Amino acid sequence: MKLFKFNPVFYVVFAAFLLCACSKVEMTPGIYNGTAKGHNAPLNVEVTVSEHAIEAISVKEHKETPGVSTPAFKNVLQAILDNQSVDVDAVSGATVTSNALIEAVTKALEQTGADMSFFTKSVERKVKGKKIKKTADVVVIGAGGAGCAAAVQAHQCGASVIIIDKMAAMGGNTILAGGIQNAVKDGSAQAIANNDSQEKFFQQTISGGDYQGDTALVRILTSQAWDALEWQESIGMKFGRTPSSVPGSLGNRGYGVQGGANGYFVAYGKYFESNENIELMLSTKALDLIEKNGRIVGVKCSDDAGNDITLMANKGVVIATGGFGQNVAMRQKYNEQWEDLGESVKSTNSPAITGDGIVMAEKVGADLVQMGNIQLLPHADPETGRLGNIAGASGNGIFINKEGNRFVNEAGRRDEMSHGTLAQTDGVMWIVVGGFRGFGPGFGGAGGFGGGDSENGDASIIFHKTDNTITAQTIEGLAEGMGVPVKNLKAAIADYNKRYLSTKPDKFGRDLFLSKIEPPYTAQLRKPAVHHTMGGLRIDTDTHVLDKDGNAIPGLYAAGEVTGGIHGTNRLGGNALSEIVVFGRIAGRNAAGGK
Ligand code: ADP
Repeated sequence: MKLFKFNPVFYVVFAAFLLCACSKVEMTPGIYNGTAKGHNAPLNVEVTVSEHAIEAISVKEHKETPGVSTPAFKNVLQAILDNQSVDVDAVSGATVTSNALIEAVTKALEQTGADMSFFTKSVERKVKGKKIKKTADVVVIGAGGAGCAAAVQAHQCGASVIIIDKMAAMGGNTILAGGIQNAVKDGSAQAIANNDSQEKFFQQTISGGDYQGDTALVRILTSQAWDALEWQESIGMKFGRTPSSVPGSLGNRGYGVQGGANGYFVAYGKYFESNENIELMLSTKALDLIEKNGRIVGVKCSDDAGNDITLMANKGVVIATGGFGQNVAMRQKYNEQWEDLGESVKSTNSPAITGDGIVMAEKVGADLVQMGNIQLLPHADPETGRLGNIAGASGNGIFINKEGNRFVNEAGRRDEMSHGTLAQTDGVMWIVVGGFRGFGPGFGGAGGFGGGDSENGDASIIFHKTDNTITAQTIEGLAEGMGVPVKNLKAAIADYNKRYLSTKPDKFGRDLFLSKIEPPYTAQLRKPAVHHTMGGLRIDTDTHVLDKDGNAIPGLYAAGEVTGGIHGTNRLGGNALSEIVVFGRIAGRNAAGGK
């Protein structure tokens, strides 16, 4: 028998051969798909691989929240490509989307025949735990609508500014809105045509909130909203000059920004990039306010890399962290208007909207006002809470219950529409409109609904399951798709169409009928979801945050949804987007001036 003798040279060469053979991943080139559960719905990616590498990744299908998910799409997919590994970090504030992307890419790669250990090798991480200290005249917490307005205004007043956001992108809830803000210029052609005035705007805002709104703050909002719009134009935003009626606005004074709400942040982003002494720090979360001798002098923060960041403010700190619509515990704690605001009630809000600023300011003695006033918007997707892509039907459509009947004034107050909807079978309704009536992203957006879908083969009923949407050429087709009695639906549409352009109230008190409901018909199943928290930090007309004795807390200002007491029990549609600019500017100006 021949024995192999131990030959060290042979073994070294053989080991080197093995190492070499395995140092490259082997795959069958092609395009592979992977699906994982996203934040709102399944998310599908397409991964292109060559023999030895991932070449490209694209997201084919998703229903993630616009704005919030964008950094995850960009950063996570780029990191996977750069590192040729799925062991990459999630983006803060978009963890669910990030993890879904990682899982979907992993599933696609598993089909390539690759040894998956090549794709799970760990990626070098940044060093964590550094201590960073920066100083500016004004520090703004939150880069949503109010924060950006405050930062730009403070900078225009000569202050150096640092603005932070805990998310990887600017925008907050504001970027998810329709981008239509209420404003009135007394004596303008639009005001005359709509029989409108700043006084009427004021009266409707006060009465629409059941007289709980602070009259001095509402006066500022309604009288300065037009100036705010012109100031926004001065920094690059463009507004149409034909007003529309945002659902629940009670008036025809909504002006849309070009590009939808994203248009706000394109302009703010350009301002931050093209000016010195104003710095935007993303993925930077404010944890606590720093107090010295009774004055707020800075903010303690941490960033995504685990660094401790101290931001000192020579003149003032502005809190603009938005409301608490996504903080279920706070909703439950403060709710006074609804039977239940627990987990089962969805929110239209960004996941970032968790009441952080309220909690931080409370710790330094801030007073809270009207925390029980929480707004539900009736137009949300029953499964995700997202706003639909057809109009909220303020003047253009009707709400239909499961029995095929109308039940409320669809051009009325948001709380009445939501209470009315919750009282129907299963607490849901269908918005029915003719063709497409858009209000910009959130309420409308580009595109719209046509009649048939030739690929489907049946042009009369098309059910887009993910959107809970039906389009149909006939009322019969629509009723069948919705599962409601056709007789009732026909009668409801006929009655509505009869009232086209009438201003005589119908039996629900509706007096706004801006368009007919004609083919092609669209219906979208909707359920009320938490939209706006009207309570928050008590402020004065200079946006100082007040303590429990009504005194200003030196150095501390607040603006936007984090504040309370402006809208009373019920915020009018289109008023928040004006409020954030009007009060954001006041906060920025006063913080810069140390007022
Ligand atoms: P508003 O409408 O009042 O401007 P938004 O919801 O548009 O409010 O914006 C609030 C912003 O504040 C969001 O972008 C959110 O990510 C940010 N934010 C919330 N909490 C913190 C925090 N602790 N640190 C930094 N940013 C925060």
